[in-house]
Amino acid sequence: MNDLNCVVTNIIPVSPIMKIIRVKPIDWELPEYKAGQFVALALPGSAPKCESATEEFKEPDPDKLIKRAYSIASSSSQDYVEFYITLVHSGSLTPRIFALEIGDKIWMGKKAVGMFTLDQIDPELNVILIATGTGVAPYMSMLRSNALSRKGKVMVIHGAANSWDLGYSSELSLLETMFPNFSYHPTITRVEKEPAGWSGDTRFIDAIWQDDVVEKAWGFKPEPENTQIFLCGNPNMTNGMTEILETQGYKEHKKKDPGQIHIEKF
Ligand SMILES: Cc1cc2nc3c(=O)[nH]c(=O)nc-3n(C[C@H](O)[C@H](O)[C@H](O)COP(=O)(O)OP(=O)(O)OC[C@H]3O[C@@H](n4cnc5c(N)ncnc54)[C@H](O)[C@@H]3O)c2cc1C
Repeated sequence: MNDLNCVVTNIIPVSPIMKIIRVKPIDWELPEYKAGQFVALALPGSAPKCESATEEFKEPDPDKLIKRAYSIASSSSQDYVEFYITLVHSGSLTPRIFALEIGDKIWMGKKAVGMFTLDQIDPELNVILIATGTGVAPYMSMLRSNALSRKGKVMVIHGAANSWDLGYSSELSLLETMFPNFSYHPTITRVEKEPAGWSGDTRFIDAIWQDDVVEKAWGFKPEPENTQIFLCGNPNMTNGMTEILETQGYKEHKKKDPGQIHIEKF
């Protein structure tokens, strides 16, 4: 199909329902984008679906592109774009993305958009990047771009169901050993399913926050005056954390009314 302007160059299965996928443009230049932004991906309704797909809410038009937004996980200096995607079994696009193989084609929007970026934030300030599931994708783009050259501290708190759902955990653990200003705190909530056990955190993100995990990692308490907080992923987490943070003096960031809480809901 002529509309499909990219080729899949790499697929890394993270878990049965999560994949890291890289795509490269076919005969066009990737535009500049900021780490943290997202683009649209699309496949036509006629594209085959993966085996574990369940019935769709509504059969799509076979000739029309099904478009959805995906955060970019790669650094803006690469000639490919990487995504970290969860399969929604009853969804329209993800079962089709999960049927793709290396060499297959996919459509990608040519313009990345979004305000969920670090570029407006004073490099002296600390940043806390909180995610559930594939919500860690925009943070990987930030860390792989220039987030770790900031003067302030950077921390990733990543929650998932199981340890194998913690995509990028090896890379994040490695970054923690390399950069003294960076900390990584993973947590899983279904520890009973871990075949080899799990010695890390098993609390929900709000409980971790209330237990001052950041203060324990940094040696000082993050305050609205010195820290910006990013929340990405499941709306239950982003809403719950926003409520807690607001009681602690943090305020949602708006273009015309700057605050310290930046939110991207998937
Ligand atoms: C800014 C942004 C960035 C994002 N980045 C990522 C990312 O990096 N990785 C990622 O995995 N996801 C990301 N998402 C989510 C992504 O855009 C899709 O929403 C997700 O992949 C599901 O798409 P789908 O087509 O498979 O499911 P959809 O077809 O959108 O369906 C989702 C669910 O809704 C149900 N449904 C569909 N239609 C109806 C209806 N009419 N009534 C009731 N229920 C219905 C379906 O059965 C299914 O359970 C992002 C979203 C946003 C907004």
